[in-house]
Amino acid sequence: MPFFFRCRRKKWDYANLPATSVIITFHNEARSTLLRTVVSVLNRSPEHLIKEIILVDDFSDNPRDGEELSKIQKIRVIRNDKREGLMRSRVKGADAAKASVLTFLDSHCECNVNWLEPLLERVALDPTRVVCPVIDVISMDTFQYIGASADLRGGFDWNLVFKWEYLSYAERESRHRDPTQAIRTPMIAGGLFVIDKKYFDKLGKYDMQMDVWGGENLEISFRVWQCGGSLEIIPCSRVGHVFRKRHPYTFPGGSGNVFAKNTRRAAEVWMDEYKHFYYASVPLAKNIPYGDISERLKLRNELQCKPFKWYLQNVYPELAIPHSTTSHTGELRQGIFCLDTMGHLLDGYVALYQCHHTGGNQEWSLTSTGLIKHHDLCLTLPNYMKGVQIVMRICDGSESQKWHRIEPGGLLRHSKYPVCLDSRSTDIRGITAERCSSASDSQKWQLTNSS
Ligand code: UDP
Ligand code: MN
Repeated sequence: MPFFFRCRRKKWDYANLPATSVIITFHNEARSTLLRTVVSVLNRSPEHLIKEIILVDDFSDNPRDGEELSKIQKIRVIRNDKREGLMRSRVKGADAAKASVLTFLDSHCECNVNWLEPLLERVALDPTRVVCPVIDVISMDTFQYIGASADLRGGFDWNLVFKWEYLSYAERESRHRDPTQAIRTPMIAGGLFVIDKKYFDKLGKYDMQMDVWGGENLEISFRVWQCGGSLEIIPCSRVGHVFRKRHPYTFPGGSGNVFAKNTRRAAEVWMDEYKHFYYASVPLAKNIPYGDISERLKLRNELQCKPFKWYLQNVYPELAIPHSTTSHTGELRQGIFCLDTMGHLLDGYVALYQCHHTGGNQEWSLTSTGLIKHHDLCLTLPNYMKGVQIVMRICDGSESQKWHRIEPGGLLRHSKYPVCLDSRSTDIRGITAERCSSASDSQKWQLTNSS
């Protein structure tokens, strides 16, 4: 039976579902999309389950945007007298809420039929569950509603940027046996979720020193899991969301800096020594000040939350830990010169450049699987030919990217062909692959730590 029928056949124990306060923060949202959001909440939810809709106007240019909507039943509008960002705005809304369950939505959504019941049911059964709908897509160009796959969950790489990922084969199998069952997710997208109000308060709401947008979903995801709760996606609940290419609002402080600051706060409080993998992946973040985190560390201590290692082992074992595959990270040196990306990216060549000992373009990892990596890019032998220029390609673990070191001398030889990384023509063509010869100084590489 197709799974929407299974969802539709579900019976809800209406008498025992708690009512909720819906909290929507917005900054300069288009009136049409904001109205679409609130109208869908009112029309697609059982009346008695919506206690109120709290709109937090985060100091939009036009105060009338919110005021006009306050004429609609159940809508309360709170307006910030300065720009606070979505975290502090949501907390304001949550503090004002009268219902025992909080439902957070973005300001450009459309709630679908029966979106609310399955979410409230899960939280009513266990208030330590934090639950999300499947987030369908509202086209940014036509505003059409497009169903999304329910075989996805939220994850991230060591750059700590949220991404959707496919469920494993085993999880998909078990989902296909019962497509209505909840999907445990390591991370939530962040904009749309339901949480018990007392639990939200007890867990420490949000980090009030995060600004504007970003990183708060990472922080609340780590916090919920590490402090004894769980995160779920409920496939029978569907809400559309307008995914946009860029933020249609200003970022006081600059978007890159704000995002890095928020992410650092999450990493510094929750990730223990694993935060170093984040800094290895996003070296520029190390220079962004992140303020005082003592309050959040205190919270973590008071709630007796588990270490990040526990989270990795129990919640997100799929996230590969770099150290287990990295045997060396640092410079690849020949005298005072270092192997350097020369600022090139995909398909670019590499060359020698005077060592500057600050990592950056001169930071390379040799993995135990034979890759020579700079971030996601690997040194690749594009074809087997002596004198061929070595290029950087996305690491895919293919044979053309496998090298090994031969001692003495520190030659870096291709794993299949008898060619070695050679700097003899670096001024014209960068590093090339030449016939291996332990007599050539231009093939001898020293591994050193950059800092
Ligand atoms: N928002 C806000 N204040 C801000 C930035 C964002 O109230 O300073 C609101 C925004 O209007 C939206 C929600 O926070 O309702 C999430 O932001 P956005 O939709 O831009 O994030 P995305 O969905 O693109 O991750
Ligand atoms: Mn959004």
